[in-house]
Amino acid sequence: MARVTLLGTGSADGWPNPWCDCSSCAWARANGVIRHQTGVLVDDAVLIDIGPDVTRSAARLGLRLGGVRHLLVGHAHADHIGPEALMWRSWSTAAEAPLDLVGPPAVLDVVQAFLARWEGRPRDDPGPPLRLWPAVAGSPVEVGDYGARYHVRPVPARHGDASIGPAVLYDVTTPDGARLLYGCDTGPLPADALAALAGRAFDIALMEENNGDRPGFGEHLDLATLAVDLDRLRANGALTAASTVVAVHLSHRNPPGDELAERLARLGVELLPDGAVLDVTPGSRAAITH
Ligand SMILES: [Zn+2]
Ligand SMILES: [Zn+2]
Ligand SMILES: [Zn+2]
Repeated sequence: MARVTLLGTGSADGWPNPWCDCSSCAWARANGVIRHQTGVLVDDAVLIDIGPDVTRSAARLGLRLGGVRHLLVGHAHADHIGPEALMWRSWSTAAEAPLDLVGPPAVLDVVQAFLARWEGRPRDDPGPPLRLWPAVAGSPVEVGDYGARYHVRPVPARHGDASIGPAVLYDVTTPDGARLLYGCDTGPLPADALAALAGRAFDIALMEENNGDRPGFGEHLDLATLAVDLDRLRANGALTAASTVVAVHLSHRNPPGDELAERLARLGVELLPDGAVLDVTPGSRAAITH
């Protein structure tokens, strides 16, 4: 069984955006709903995306990150990579434990520049225990040579240019065979992504839905384009009747109140809070245990 913990389910600015007085933000504040930047922990060993909110969210939820050995980052927008966390890890009991960082070239650049500036490391040598693995769509990476193995397939995203990536989504297979799609961030899936995902029968798919009813902000999905992409993913076997689909990267462009949950449910998509835990037995629907 694999365990997937949602450390954050929100957009770059989080929901509510504390600067904002729109009806969605006002509703979230009034109801104590807080969605941090999106990040997900798999089996305590893999962390996907590490924006500045994500490690603090883990602390708030009472979770430890000391077991994380693999860090997957989809692109170099600041809500997905906060390199400062690597410095703070180096002050912890996990400091000497190996850490694989998998990310597109722009992400590795951000990390190397940070370490060079703050820790005086040579730019091309981050030093132990950090090992950098380039994530390039179409080139799978096997991480975990010192423990449980995770098979990581970067998949092309429609999100920004090479200066932040090229951005990728992640298709991750855990040691016990559970399959996870991390579909974040992307606009409508490009044809090469759909081809790469065909037939994968994911147990869990975390799909971004940043834009709600207000499309046109960045390269993101909204309620209408998510519905179209889900139809495509169901038609090509990426998703099956047993797949659990969860909406993440949610912003205040989404409707307040119960409306969002109801509309996502019509698409077969779960709306879960930060801190939700899903236990995944390969081939069957995930159990939402928290
Ligand atoms: Zn983002
Ligand atoms: Zn707002
Ligand atoms: Zn982004």
